[in-house]
Amino acid sequence: MTFNELGLKDSILSAIGDLGYEKPTPIQQEAIPFLIENQGDLVGLASTGTGKTAAFGLPLLNQTDETDRITQGLVICPTRELCIQIANDLENYSKNIKGLDIIAVYGGSDIQKQIRKLDKGAQIVVATPGRLVDLIKRKKVRLRNVDAVVLDEADEMLNMGFKEDIDFILDETPVHKSVWLFSATMPKAVSQIAKNYMESPFEITVGQKNEGNKNIEHHYYVVKERDRFAALKAIIDYHPSMYGLIFCRTRRDTAEVADKLMANGYNAEPLHGDLSQAQRDRVMEKFRQRTLQILVATDVAARGIDVDDITHVIHHKLPEDVENYTHRSGRTARAGRKGVSLAIINTKEGRKIKTIERIIKTKFQSKDVPTVNDICEKQVVNTVDKLTTVEVDEKAIEKHMDVALEKLESYTKEDLIKRIVASEFNRFKKFYEKEGNLNARLSDKGGDDFGRGRRGSSNSNAQRFFVNLGKKDGFNQGALLRIVCDSSGINKSLVGKIDIMNNFSFFDADKSYTDAIIKSMQNVNFEGKVLNVEKTNSSSGGRKGGRRSNESRGKGRRNSSRRNQKSKRRY
Ligand code: AMP
Repeated sequence: MTFNELGLKDSILSAIGDLGYEKPTPIQQEAIPFLIENQGDLVGLASTGTGKTAAFGLPLLNQTDETDRITQGLVICPTRELCIQIANDLENYSKNIKGLDIIAVYGGSDIQKQIRKLDKGAQIVVATPGRLVDLIKRKKVRLRNVDAVVLDEADEMLNMGFKEDIDFILDETPVHKSVWLFSATMPKAVSQIAKNYMESPFEITVGQKNEGNKNIEHHYYVVKERDRFAALKAIIDYHPSMYGLIFCRTRRDTAEVADKLMANGYNAEPLHGDLSQAQRDRVMEKFRQRTLQILVATDVAARGIDVDDITHVIHHKLPEDVENYTHRSGRTARAGRKGVSLAIINTKEGRKIKTIERIIKTKFQSKDVPTVNDICEKQVVNTVDKLTTVEVDEKAIEKHMDVALEKLESYTKEDLIKRIVASEFNRFKKFYEKEGNLNARLSDKGGDDFGRGRRGSSNSNAQRFFVNLGKKDGFNQGALLRIVCDSSGINKSLVGKIDIMNNFSFFDADKSYTDAIIKSMQNVNFEGKVLNVEKTNSSSGGRKGGRRSNESRGKGRRNSSRRNQKSKRRY
């Protein structure tokens, strides 16, 4: 099938021809003719990189009347980056339609500037939900004549908590309009939106529901928790020409991993919410231009990253919510290319891999962390490749050649090659020999030792902690778990039994993180109250299998907490 058969205007066909698009992608082949011929609603289940922007963008432009400046099309998407990207794409597709204007409105940018543009009118508005709600409330954007609303990356928008904003926005649009919803996955909340706002939508699925991109290979490496960074480094060293995106769970992890990589001489930078918008833009620009080789990002910051050619996505830790794995890995293998998604897991995370396999309907390959020999071999090949492809500025170098030749006169060709190779080789050899074998085995249970469903049980690796807040402070299990994991960066599977008492609380966590937990949780603010965390000497379980009555359990804890409170007062 060619673009000429889809029913698009000549002005659009010529623009996509200029972009070098030869053939519509599968989702475009299905969506474009349907949307041009019907006024109906559409659900497009497609992962990122399938060409979905053009799948909705081309028909949207095709049906827009450029002689009328009223807003006729609205695209809502989760992030500023995606918003800018979509608006750019639409501008490219409509460059031959005179009088057609597209405005991108998104948070983190001067609202007055956006208002001035909106005052001039635009037929198509591309927006992030929060900013659009703000503009609607200020009566700066009118959506009463919108014919089509596109919800792009609907699952992401719901993940990010935009449900209420989306409801508010859709209520501002006319009853009779088309809704075109695109989503990589179809969790219940997305089906609910489809139910609430659409009438028997036409459904297009590229691949199967909730299935990831077939061009992505999925690998995992099992290492001890403390070896995560060394394993990450080994993987990067084994793929010297990677153009990679590393996902971390928290801002703190992201900053730390990026710092360590930079300190080790890698061309890497972080992208997370603690950076200013200008800093984030600068990092993204460098990454897009490929002057930055490795981007280290949180899930939220990386949403909407639309960079083709990413060869490797590395999960420094698997995402908290396994559904996010599809989004992360979908940043590689875009537009028909191939890519690899590499997860570094600890010995207790085998079950997570199984869950993800069920979601993406694809098996992971278990891989060994590259050894010192593997890495050295790859690096030698890389060094030689670089030598053979390096551009030589004959003129500039000529005047230095005599000195170089004189100094190297006594070496044979073979000696020289050995020395060049060794200069790279030595540095890797030294590092990895010190690290030893980084591979570990999945624990027999393949799952959480502390984790969900077992949070009531005790564990010999557990350290018991005291926290100075309890039920009366509005504290609960979820809040405690979130604070422990967010602040210290540990996986929630490493947090065990939690007891929330009236005035204070206790929890178990893996012993090896004791210092990290105490340090990172100290002085965290919970609803205006400052947290104090201490180690206790008591253990949560073991006594009568941990099945003591609530009352006696409470008493025992209260005593131990008094001890703690006393010792705290001394400080
Ligand atoms: P998207 O899924 O919309 O983010 O598109 C992914 C990439 O594919 C973008 O770089 C698009 O420019 C490119 N693309 C979209 N449609 C086509 C097509 N028919 N032919 C070639 N490239 C395309």
